[in-house]
Amino acid sequence: MPVTLIRAGTIWDGVSDAPLGPRDILIKDGFIKEIAENIPVPEGAEVINLHDRMVMPGLIDCHVHLTIRPEISPTFWSHSGSYKALLGAQALRIILMNGFTTVRDVGDMDFHGYTTRDLKIALNQGIIQGPRLVTSGHMISCRGGHMDVTVLLSPYCDTRENCLADGPDEIRTVVRNEIKWGADWIKYAASGGFATPSDDPVEVTYTREEMDTLVATAAALHRPVAAHLHGDDAVRMSVLAGVRSVEHGAMASKETLALIEEKGVYFVPTQYAGVRSARFADSDAYWDEMGASQLMRMKIRKYKDALLETAHHLAKSNVKIAFGTDLGVLSFTINGATEFGEMVANGISPARALRAATSMAAELLMKDDIGTLAPGKCADIIGVPGNPFEDITVMEKVNFVMKAGIVYKQA
Ligand SMILES: [Zn+2]
Repeated sequence: MPVTLIRAGTIWDGVSDAPLGPRDILIKDGFIKEIAENIPVPEGAEVINLHDRMVMPGLIDCHVHLTIRPEISPTFWSHSGSYKALLGAQALRIILMNGFTTVRDVGDMDFHGYTTRDLKIALNQGIIQGPRLVTSGHMISCRGGHMDVTVLLSPYCDTRENCLADGPDEIRTVVRNEIKWGADWIKYAASGGFATPSDDPVEVTYTREEMDTLVATAAALHRPVAAHLHGDDAVRMSVLAGVRSVEHGAMASKETLALIEEKGVYFVPTQYAGVRSARFADSDAYWDEMGASQLMRMKIRKYKDALLETAHHLAKSNVKIAFGTDLGVLSFTINGATEFGEMVANGISPARALRAATSMAAELLMKDDIGTLAPGKCADIIGVPGNPFEDITVMEKVNFVMKAGIVYKQA
């Protein structure tokens, strides 16, 4: 691999409260070798001039669904695993070009196979291009719960869905199966959701015994657990059961946020997909543009005040926030970096939002080689045409992308 020297107008390291000023970054064999002012050009090195950009660590999206699109949700069962794999390949390419060099998929939507695992293999073999991929297999759910999509069919259809589990015995089996087929994480639905037809976001869909069994089975096999949840009871029970990350957590109370902070649990708020809908609940234009169902709009309206209140308390808390978009449930025509603007609109500081997608996300994923710019780290590096600490929307204009020392985008 060639030696590369980036000359950056200014850098932000993924941790500091502000950009650090002009620096050069020397990259060798896919890793950062040195960061300093005015590094002499090594013989044979390629020089990349980014003097007009802020250079920072590649972004990390901790909550995507590669194998679904909003358009196909209602006709879910008429699409094959191979079609969903193609959706995944397309999604990975889009995500990388928007500056995300690592993603965690938190719900494989191929309920007969293990497509996100295959996507990861294809990425590692260089068959497709995309970010580093961390997978959680399917979202384990009780029958009738958030991820029981057999509800889209008549009860006369006998459809197999590989992530449904009730009771400790079935839960142990499904967790072990997901791990057997490549899951890095285990994900489960602890509550209903907003977009699904059969459940309500404040319903708790597993007992504490079931949650404890799930977390313990995963822990014995060294897998951390992420939980989908909205209502306060589901959040509190899951935190006490020992999950590593709370996904959405849309209606967590102030007391439960304090518990999350005390336990050191990470919070992935996916606010563009959630709180934004509450902010625009009464705007017909917003709902037409989003193409979301009337059912979802009705549920958002019902819980609007609770959603806004939780967002307010979260911004004021010291909870460890990690960045996630729920792309896949949202259309991939939406740039995931819009989540930054939404977080800032809800009172989260630009520095905290940026750390959520870099150093804090790396901490959640237990990957100490990404998320920051420093010697020895992977050369996952992006450039933006401005200062996101002053205007967070420049994160939607990433115009330089390097992953593991290889340039994928350069304006
Ligand atoms: Zn999701």
